[in-house]
Amino acid sequence: MGIDHTGRYGAADLESGGFVRQRTLKSAINCSGVALHSGKKVTMALIPAEPDTGILFRRTDIVSGDNEIPARWDRVVDTRLCTAIANDDGVSVGTVEHLMSALSGCGIDNVVIELNAPEVPIMDGSAAPFVFLIECAGVVSQDAPRKVIRVLKTVTVDDGERAASLTPGNGFSLAFEIDFASTAIRQQAIAVGMADGTFKNEVARARTFGFLHEVEQLWAAGLAKGGSLENAVVVSGDKVLNEDGLRYDDEFVRHKVLDAVGDLYLAGAPIQGHFHGACSGHATNNALLRALFADPSAWAYDVERVEDGLSTPFTGVHALTDALTDAPAEAASA
Ligand SMILES: [Zn+2]
Repeated sequence: MGIDHTGRYGAADLESGGFVRQRTLKSAINCSGVALHSGKKVTMALIPAEPDTGILFRRTDIVSGDNEIPARWDRVVDTRLCTAIANDDGVSVGTVEHLMSALSGCGIDNVVIELNAPEVPIMDGSAAPFVFLIECAGVVSQDAPRKVIRVLKTVTVDDGERAASLTPGNGFSLAFEIDFASTAIRQQAIAVGMADGTFKNEVARARTFGFLHEVEQLWAAGLAKGGSLENAVVVSGDKVLNEDGLRYDDEFVRHKVLDAVGDLYLAGAPIQGHFHGACSGHATNNALLRALFADPSAWAYDVERVEDGLSTPFTGVHALTDALTDAPAEAASA
C-alpha cells in the first residue's frame, strides 16, 4: 500500500483518504513519582511531537552528549526486572513498559518524554495513571497516516518454559496464560481484543506483582528501593498482602497483557496481528520482536485503514474457560 520496509509513505497515501491519522498530545503535561529501583523522586513531562517522531525519551539530567533514546526494540539493553533502553552513548531509561503500554493503548504515535532521572516513575504499578495523564493533556490527530506493522506469518520464540508468538490477524489482539503454584494466582488465561476502550477499562489498572521473598531479595541487593504495597501486588505464600485486595479477579494475567502491550510497542509502530504469550516476560517479548524483524518476509509496513479497526476477529476481554488448552486464542475468538 505504497509503503516500504523503511516506513516511508507517499503523497498518494495521504490523499487517498480512509486512513487512520497519527496522533499526538494536545498539550504538554507533567507528573512526578518515585523510581522503582532507586527509590528517588522523578519528574516526567510528556510533550507533543511532529508526525513520524515516534516515541522518544529525553534525559534532561544529561547535559553533554546524546541525551535522547528512541523507544525501539533494538535499543533494549536490560529485561531482567523491567524493560530498559539505551542509546549509543549508554544513556538509558528503565521501567518504560507501563508508560509504553499506556501510549499504545491510547493510540499515541508521537510524543517526547522528558525525564530528570534514568527511570520512568512507577506510579501505582499499573498504566492507569499514565492513561489519566494522556487524557488530561488531550489527544489530537495529525496530518499524516498512521504507519502500522502488519504480521505476515507466524513468528515464535520458545525456551521450553516461556513461549510467545505473533500471528497474522486484523487489528491487535493478545492472549496470555500464566501458571503459578501459589493458590493466590494459579492458572490464569485471558484473550483481549484491543479495540477502543478495552485497554483503559480492562487492562490499564492491572498492577505489577511479585512475591514477598523475591522483593526481600531485591531489597537486600539494593534494588527495587521504591517498591512497596503502594505500587505492586505482593503475594506471600497463598495470600495477597495488599489490604484492599485485587482490582480484577485475574489482575495478574491482565498485568502480563499490559506488559506485553508495552513491550510490543517498542516495535516502533502499532502491530496488526495476534500475540500469544505463555508464562513469558520482558525478555521473551523482546526476543519475539527481534525474531520478527530478523525475517523480512514475516512483516511489512502498511498504512492503517479505518476498516482495519472494523474487521477485528474479536473485541473486549474473554476468559478462557478451558485454561491452558493448546489453542486458547482460537477458543476465545470462536
Ligand atoms: Zn509490568
